Amino acid sequence: MKLAVPLALAALCTMPLSAQSRLSDWPQHSEERPKPTVVQPGAMYTIAPPSDAVVLFGGTSLDRWTQGQGAPALWRVADGAFQVVPSTGTLSTRDSFGDVQLHLEWAAPNPPVGTGQDRGNSGVFFADGRYEVQVLDSRNNDTYADGQAGALYGQFPPLVNASRAPGEWQVYDIVYHRPRFAADGTLQSAARLTVFHNGVLVQDNMELVGPTANKSRPPYTAHAARLPITLQDHGHPVRYRNVWLRDLDTAK
Ligand code: MG
Repeated sequence: MKLAVPLALAALCTMPLSAQSRLSDWPQHSEERPKPTVVQPGAMYTIAPPSDAVVLFGGTSLDRWTQGQGAPALWRVADGAFQVVPSTGTLSTRDSFGDVQLHLEWAAPNPPVGTGQDRGNSGVFFADGRYEVQVLDSRNNDTYADGQAGALYGQFPPLVNASRAPGEWQVYDIVYHRPRFAADGTLQSAARLTVFHNGVLVQDNMELVGPTANKSRPPYTAHAARLPITLQDHGHPVRYRNVWLRDLDTAK
């Protein structure tokens, strides 16, 4: 008897591993796209840095950060946290990193000011500004799905909206794998991101289609394996604390 593989199963076998990472048919930044379901996260938690962590901010000093070109960090340190000082620009790590496990805590301004993207906006960027995990006050704040907290900006909305209220500390635990490029600059493998927001999975090993951007989806261009991690000055006094990473290029 001849064995027939059902058509659907055959199709599954030929699906790329990154099938979950395909862009939806919704236009970028579509306001009509359904918003992720709101999930109330469990109690606030924190994770102290493990023994092999690089502590980027332990509560008192921004020594490991620069406002660019080695200039001292200008963001304000107070009460065990640091805060965006609007118009000072991007804050960058002095060291460069490739694949990392990153933990950080952030809080949007309270009381909230503004609406949509103009409310508690910042961002965590990998590879020196190329790939953004959005930071935004997304509690009772309507904006396009691919731009809310936990989005891979302009590409993938979070699976759910696990936001806490403005002023409350929120947690991101992120696993970032950098893209790989061949010697001739062609893409070998895409950047991949897994994100937990307040302990809730919001990005499940997603493959970026290129750098994240506003109103565009530019293609990959080859870049160094290790580059600074940066935080966005979007003009809003978002706070951060307890920022550490594990360098997966060197972790054994
Ligand atoms: Mg942002």
